[in-house]
Amino acid sequence: MVNYIIVTGGVISGLGKGITTASIGKILQLHGYNVTAIKIDPYMNFDAGTLRPTEHGEVWVTEDGGEIDQDLGHYERFLDINIPKSHNITTGQVYSAVIEKERKGKYLGKTVQPIPHVTDEIKERIRLPASQHNWDFILVEIGGTVGDYENVLFLEAVRQMKHEGDKVVFVHVTYVPMLDALGEAKTKPTQHSVKQLREIGIMPDFIITRSEKTLDNVRREKIAMFCNVSQDDVISNEDVDNIYAVSLLFEKQDLCRKILKKLNLRKDKDNLKEWENFIKKINRLQNTVKIGIVGKYFDIGASQLSDSYISVIEAVKHAAWNNNLKPDIKWIDSKVFEIEPTKVKTLDKLDGIIVPGGFGLSGIDGKIATIRYCREKNIPYLGLCLGMQLAVVEYARNACGMADAHSTEVDKKTPYPVIDFIPEQVKILQDSRYGATMRLGAYPAVLKKGTIIYSLYKETNVSERHRHRYEVNPQFVEKLESCGIVFSGRSPDGILMEFMELPNHPYFVGTQAHPEFKSRPLRPAPLFDGLIQAAKKRK
Ligand code: GLN
Repeated sequence: MVNYIIVTGGVISGLGKGITTASIGKILQLHGYNVTAIKIDPYMNFDAGTLRPTEHGEVWVTEDGGEIDQDLGHYERFLDINIPKSHNITTGQVYSAVIEKERKGKYLGKTVQPIPHVTDEIKERIRLPASQHNWDFILVEIGGTVGDYENVLFLEAVRQMKHEGDKVVFVHVTYVPMLDALGEAKTKPTQHSVKQLREIGIMPDFIITRSEKTLDNVRREKIAMFCNVSQDDVISNEDVDNIYAVSLLFEKQDLCRKILKKLNLRKDKDNLKEWENFIKKINRLQNTVKIGIVGKYFDIGASQLSDSYISVIEAVKHAAWNNNLKPDIKWIDSKVFEIEPTKVKTLDKLDGIIVPGGFGLSGIDGKIATIRYCREKNIPYLGLCLGMQLAVVEYARNACGMADAHSTEVDKKTPYPVIDFIPEQVKILQDSRYGATMRLGAYPAVLKKGTIIYSLYKETNVSERHRHRYEVNPQFVEKLESCGIVFSGRSPDGILMEFMELPNHPYFVGTQAHPEFKSRPLRPAPLFDGLIQAAKKRK
């Protein structure tokens, strides 16, 4: 029978509940269990596709074309599995399903109510993966913080699951702040958030405390006493240098055995060696590689947020570690180069540059200036989706004599629309159907032998995940190729240009896809690996 681990959050958002959930999954997996995870996002959006990246971070794309909150990315990376879009549940999906059923008369004349109809719909979705596959564990992370209006029905649904006999372990993740002025860690916010959870009818089995330093015994005792758990079940999750090491922090506190004991299960296997060695190796690395990410989704008010590019960052890390280097990532807001064009010279200090995916008009000229500089000064460059489109634009303008060439996303009247709609997008955009209508998910491509990209993938048939509406305009392919661009990979029908590169450059590579979504700690994405290899040489 499947076991559920329900992870809730308290005190503040942004605690790293996703990493905590993924790390619990990891230790269970390393002890021989079959694990998957579900993310519940209590917002009204149907999915994360129409959300700006500075709202909740990057939009993660699944193999089957889901546009999901970034936490699913953590689960995939930690557990090294592909997770389908059905493992993301939002209020928007739940309510629209309930309303659709009501319109079809499926409730047989009953008054349709939050309890039981909405909670039944939620439970059905949480239980779905267990009906499709033989999972030992399904981790369910409930987004938001206990006490939020919007997650009440989800909490009620998981309470009912335990009541109905599902095997459930509740893990509550809270924040224990350390106030400098007092010099003391405070447990009161944790006590209050557990109190709220208990009012809903959920008694946590474990409390995981996020804090700067290891939770001391005095606070542990206090939390245990006020929150009605045993001291052993208060787990410290203090800051560590590396997110992949959190699982080992849990292992040190014997969390896996403690979880299994509550379910009358035992540790099956002990496969920790490879993971431990990996963490040891990355902690020991000395030499750094400096990679610049030139983007635009960095600012929220006065603070800067790197979450918008989280998968790109993780992919850089995986590739750097694979090449025995410590990644040193620099955020560069492309708009800086628009205000002060001479500042592009600062890129000289970097070993490699990435222009990641993006939408809309702002920061585009700064990105094009970046790309030109990398091309002319032989700085290793990787363009991801928009980063490839703009590389084509830059090359068309400055190396193919097509002045003012552009993408029609940015300039509808350009004389040389080298990047244009994918044909089926025309009608979609006319009708303003923005949700889930891009070219989404995994698509195959065929690589050309003898190219740099082929040498990295080492095979001709590859597949990567996509999320875009625009593409290289087929009408310009011949001209661009005659000027020197090599389209090293195309869609199997030969129509879409999926990969490009420039020969006679240490590494100038672009892809219409997002290979960052398939990068894993122990299996870096080939194009990121190529970037780091070239960056290492430049050093
Ligand atoms: N805005 C571009 C498009 O829709 C690029 C998208 C992306 O970078 N993911 O094609």
